[in-house]
Amino acid sequence: MHELGIVFEIQKRLLAFAAGNGLSPASIASVVVEVGEASTVIPKYLLECWPAAMDGTDMEDATLEVEVIVAQVQCKKCGTVYPYLEHDKICPSCGAWECRMVTGQEFNIKEILVYEEDVPEDGSLGGDPAVR
Ligand SMILES: [Zn+2]
Repeated sequence: MHELGIVFEIQKRLLAFAAGNGLSPASIASVVVEVGEASTVIPKYLLECWPAAMDGTDMEDATLEVEVIVAQVQCKKCGTVYPYLEHDKICPSCGAWECRMVTGQEFNIKEILVYEEDVPEDGSLGGDPAVR
């Protein structure tokens, strides 16, 4: 299970984000990550590792949200794009199985949310609690 390593990686990026924006790590409210359905990351394990990894850090109140991106492939014969898992890798238009992956292998930090009261007063963050 490599999800713990991934959680630590997210943690590192959050710290870098806080430092880069003049924020305290404690002001991070939550983080949203996107995980492709066909990636090797299992959202359930990620969520299970999260509290243990964050416990005792400045970010222990930060919550993790995982958004799953449906794995889509494109048929090499007819070009149809279809959800890979739903159709069991068989093109619904022509029945061919040769395809290439379009989406589903991503792993991104989509959004980092900070507590609004900690937004610097110069308004550099535009008063929007959602910061990418
Ligand atoms: Zn096809």
